[in-house]
Amino acid sequence: MSMPADYHIHTPLCLHAKGEPAEYAARALEVGLTEIGFSDHSPMRAQFDNWRMRFDQLDEYVEKVARARRDYPNLIIRLGLEVDYLPGGEDWVRELAAMHPWDYFIGSVHYISDSFAVDDPKELGKWKERDPFDIWNVYFDRLTLAAESRLFDIIGHADLPKKFNIYPQRDCGPMFERFLDRAARTGVALDVNTAGLRKDCAEIYPSARFLRMAAERKIPITFGSDAHDPSEVGLAFDRAVDIAREMGYTHYCRFAARKRLDTRL
Ligand code: ZN
Ligand code: FE
Ligand code: FE
Ligand code: ZN
Repeated sequence: MSMPADYHIHTPLCLHAKGEPAEYAARALEVGLTEIGFSDHSPMRAQFDNWRMRFDQLDEYVEKVARARRDYPNLIIRLGLEVDYLPGGEDWVRELAAMHPWDYFIGSVHYISDSFAVDDPKELGKWKERDPFDIWNVYFDRLTLAAESRLFDIIGHADLPKKFNIYPQRDCGPMFERFLDRAARTGVALDVNTAGLRKDCAEIYPSARFLRMAAERKIPITFGSDAHDPSEVGLAFDRAVDIAREMGYTHYCRFAARKRLDTRL
């Protein structure tokens, strides 16, 4: 089996990843990948938090990816960004999109308010003060807006609030359905992200159940390791591909210059 492209890879510019793009590329070839894409955390216009590149580092990011391309001509290397979706921040995403020849944008929701990122271990206290259902609900409202914005090619780690293994008492099925129904109308893809296996939830983002619902709606998928270290490139892709196939997928997609290329799985 040839492995799908790994489209979710970070760089040290985000301040919480190790290894230069060239090291991720070398690892990709080692594990038998033929294509990867960098999708580091996008800059905000002004300082926002401490886990992303500064705007004045964006050119450096693009140059690092270009250098990896030159050093590893046998590997297809795409240029992307993992862009935080914040309601009201749409214009900034459009501005970013015009700055470089991107292959794709992954739209991710981490923040459900300007000060609460649902995946930040430092914010775990907030999970104890609030009904988890409420957190998931606000998260999925934002994720639905992200999908409908048409600013993104891929939606990142769609059920991210499960990271710490804190699930609502009530069934989340209806909120998944609402998101997926609306996402299906836009053609946006979902990031099948193996980082969840390395977190407390111990399963891929999104869950098998969620993926089945996505497959029924013919929503395309990409694969991502969310590598923050070169050793994580392509991690657990065999398992991710098995699950995607079991849930009904026969294809995944790749992106070039923000155009989707459907590829057999
Ligand atoms: Zn990160
Ligand atoms: Fe993320
Ligand atoms: Fe990421
Ligand atoms: Zn991510």
